Amino acid sequence: MDPWVHIVGGGLSGLSLAASLAQFGTLPGRVLISEPVPESLASKTFSFWFTEGERNFLKPEHVSSRWSVSQGSEATVHRGHQFTYGTRSGRAVLDDALSAIHNHAQIELVHETVLTKPKATYVFDSRPCDIETHQVTQSFVGIEVQFEHAHGISEVGLMERLVATDSGVRFVYLLPLGPDRLLVEYTEFTTVPSDFSELATLNEHYLMDKFRNHSYEVQRTESAHIPMGFRQRSEHFGIPLGARGGMTRDATGYGYRTIRYACDQIAKDLIQNDVVKPFRRSVATVWADRLFLNLIQHRPDAIPQILMQIANRMTPDKFAAFMMNCAPWDLFHLLRAAPAKPFTCALLGRYQWI
Ligand SMILES: Cc1cc2nc3c(=O)[nH]c(=O)nc-3n(C[C@H](O)[C@H](O)[C@H](O)COP(=O)(O)OP(=O)(O)OC[C@H]3O[C@@H](n4cnc5c(N)ncnc54)[C@H](O)[C@@H]3O)c2cc1C
Repeated sequence: MDPWVHIVGGGLSGLSLAASLAQFGTLPGRVLISEPVPESLASKTFSFWFTEGERNFLKPEHVSSRWSVSQGSEATVHRGHQFTYGTRSGRAVLDDALSAIHNHAQIELVHETVLTKPKATYVFDSRPCDIETHQVTQSFVGIEVQFEHAHGISEVGLMERLVATDSGVRFVYLLPLGPDRLLVEYTEFTTVPSDFSELATLNEHYLMDKFRNHSYEVQRTESAHIPMGFRQRSEHFGIPLGARGGMTRDATGYGYRTIRYACDQIAKDLIQNDVVKPFRRSVATVWADRLFLNLIQHRPDAIPQILMQIANRMTPDKFAAFMMNCAPWDLFHLLRAAPAKPFTCALLGRYQWI
C-alpha cells in the first residue's frame, strides 16, 4: 500500500513535520521520510527570537537578551525585554525527532535519495532549491571555536563590521555559545553566491585579529547558500515544505521559528481535518522583503547605513518582533524606523536617486 504521507528530505522541516505527526497516536496511514544523510542536520545551529511563552515549543539551549549591529566605529546594542535570542543545535533537533519517529510504529525514516515524485496520499517536498533560482543568496561559513579561557563576548553580534561589497553586503555574525565557546560566521547577502574559501579566510583573520593572545581550537564548521527570495518557481514533487515552501524569511534567511510552527500546524490540519493549507506569508511582508532585496541588488552601497538606522531607531522588542514576523504592525514599526529616501526611490524604481 502507498504511504499516507511521504516526506522527501529529512532536514529541519521534514523531521519537524514527522515529529509533529508522531505526537498523535494512531495515524490514518504510514508516514515515510526519505533522507540520504540525516546526520547532516547535526552540523547546523538554529537561532531565533522567542518570548517566554514559546520556550517549551522552540526549546533554545543557549539564550541571550542582548544583540548588536555595527558598522565601522558605530554600534547599536539592543537589550530585549519581551524577546530573547535563543539558539538550538541541529543535533538536539535531530535527536528529538529521531526518538519521536522510533517510538511511533507507523513512521519510518529511510536512508535514500528520491529522484521522481513518490506515490502517497500526501507528498511533501523539502529538497533545497537550486541556487540559480535564488533572487539573492545568503552565503556563510561558520566556525565554532573552543577557547582555553573566556572569550569575553557577552552579546550576540547579529551584524558586526557591516560593509557593502560589489554584489551585496558582508558582515560577521558572532554567537557566544557559553563563556569559552563562540561561533564566528562571515556572511554575505549577495546576488553572486560567495566563495566559501574566502569567507573561511575572513573567519580566520577575524580570530587572529581579535583573539591574538588566546589559545583556541576549531570544533565544527558549517556553511550554506540560503535562498533570500526566489526569482523563478521550481517544480515540486508535491507540497513544498521548508525553505522550498517559502518558510525562510526572504529579507533575513531566518527560518527555524516559522518552520517549527508551520509544520506543527500542517500536522494538526492533516490529522484533524484531512487537509493541507499551503503556507503563505502576509502580502505586506512579501512586499517589504522584496523591496529590501531590490535595494541589495541595485544599491548595496546604501544597505549598511539603512540597517544601522533601523537598528538605532527601533526598540529592541519591536526589532525582534519584526525579525520573527510576528504581526502585520511589526512591519509598520520597521517602515517608520527605516530611512524614507531609499525605500521611496526603490518603490519608484529610481535607484540612482538614492
Ligand atoms: C547551516 C545553516 C544554518 C542556519 N541557521 C539558521 C538560524 O540560525 N536560524 C534560522 O532561523 N534559520 C537558519 N537557517 C535557515 C533555515 O532554517 C534552514 O535552511 C533549514 O534547514 C531549512 O529547512 P529545510 O527542511 O527547508 O531544508 P534542509 O534542512 O536543508 O533539509 C533538506 C533535506 O533534503 C535532503 N534532500 C535533498 N535532496 C533530496 C532528495 N532528492 N531526496 C531526499 N532527500 C533529499 C537533504 O539531504 C536535506 O537534509 C540555517 C540554514 C543552514 C543551512
